[in-house]
Amino acid sequence: MPHGWPDSARRPRSRCSRARECSKRGDGNIVHLEIGEPDFDTPAHVVEAGVHALKTGHTHYGPSPGLPQLREAVAAHVSKTRGVPCMPSNVVVTPGGKPIMFFAMLALVEPGVEVIYPNPGFPIYESMINFCGGTAVPVPLRESNQFSVDVDEIASLLTKKTRLLVINSPQNPTGGVMPKEDVAALVALLRRWPDVMVLSDEIYSDILYEGEHASVLQHEGMSERTILLDGFSKTYAMTGWRLGYGVMPEALAAHVARLQTNSTSCTASFTQIAGVAALTGDHGPVRAMIEAFRGRRDAIVDGLNSIRGFRCLRPKGAFYVFPNIEGTGMKAKELQTRLLEEAGVACLAGTAFGSHGEGFLRFSYANSLENIHEALSRISKFVG
Ligand code: PLP
Repeated sequence: MPHGWPDSARRPRSRCSRARECSKRGDGNIVHLEIGEPDFDTPAHVVEAGVHALKTGHTHYGPSPGLPQLREAVAAHVSKTRGVPCMPSNVVVTPGGKPIMFFAMLALVEPGVEVIYPNPGFPIYESMINFCGGTAVPVPLRESNQFSVDVDEIASLLTKKTRLLVINSPQNPTGGVMPKEDVAALVALLRRWPDVMVLSDEIYSDILYEGEHASVLQHEGMSERTILLDGFSKTYAMTGWRLGYGVMPEALAAHVARLQTNSTSCTASFTQIAGVAALTGDHGPVRAMIEAFRGRRDAIVDGLNSIRGFRCLRPKGAFYVFPNIEGTGMKAKELQTRLLEEAGVACLAGTAFGSHGEGFLRFSYANSLENIHEALSRISKFVG
C-alpha cells in the first residue's frame, strides 16, 4: 500500500469483477446471479420526470440536505409507512442509501466505541466501523432462526461501550425478514440501553412477499434514537441514479447535512425531482416487479432444493437466496469459484458477507426466469 492508508480505506476489488473478467474473456456464457440490483428498467414516468427536470433547468447545486419537495415527500412517505410523525427537517437526501451509513458512522463512531452489526451482512457496515476506528462486534444471523437477529444474542453483546446497533430487514444477503415480534423484543431490550442508537437499513422494505414491513421506528420513542436508511435504488430500480435518504433526529440531521456539504455538496437535483415522481406517482410498475421477483424466488428455491448438497429457505424479502451448501462438501469460496469457472454460473460465497456466511452461497434472482432455470440446470449437472 504506497500511501500507508489504513487497510479499511483501500478500494475493495469489486465482488463481481472476476465474473465480469470471465465474461469479457469470452469464457463461455456466464449466467450472472451475483448482481445486487434489479434487472428492471426505472418506471417510465420516473425517467420522464428526470428528463423534464433536466430540460427545465434543474441542473444546479441544491441545498445540502436535499430539495424541499423531496424532503417533504419522503417525510410524508415515512409517516405513512412507519406510522410515526416525520418532518422534512428529519430527512437528509443523499446520492444513494450508502452515504447514510458512511455519514452516520462518521458522526457516531470513534475509537473506544463498539458497534453491533449483522454477520453475514452488507460488507460496508464492518468496513465503515473499522474505518472510523470503532470496534466491530458481529451478531450472527442463523439459518435456524430464518436469518432474523436473535435478540438474546444481541443482549449478550451489548456493553457500556456500545454506541450503535445496525439492523437490516429485509436483509442482504439472506433475504431474511425480522418478524414484528422480534422487532418488538429488540425494542424492549433497547429500552434498557437508552444510549444505544440504531441504524436501521430498510432499503429493501418494499420488496416483501408476505406480511407487513416491521420497523423499530413504529415503536414509541424510537424515532429519537434511530437513523432510518432507505432509498430508491431497489424499489424503483434506480441504482444508477444514486438516490437515497436517511431519517433521523433533527440534531443529527444537521451534522449529517454538514458532512454532505463537506463531501458531495448535494445530491443531483434532477435525480431528486425524479424521486418525487417515484414516491408520489403510479406504483403499478413496482408491484409488477415484486410479483416477477416472487415467481423467480419460488423457481430458484425449488430448483436449489432439488440439487444434491443444497438446502434453501424461502426468503420473505429482497431478491436474494442464501442456500446452505455444506452438503456439497465444499467451502463457500471454492464452490463459488468452481461454479463460475466450471459451470458458468456467477454467485457469491457467503463469506463475502462475513465469516458467519461460511457454508452458504448468495444468489441474486434479479435475472430472467429463463436464465435462472439455465443456471439451475448447470449447477445440478456440475454437482452431479
Ligand atoms: N443497504 C443494503 C443492505 C444494500 O444491499 C445496499 C445495496 O446493495 C445498500 C444499502 C446501498 O444502496 P444504494 O445503492 O442506494 O447506495
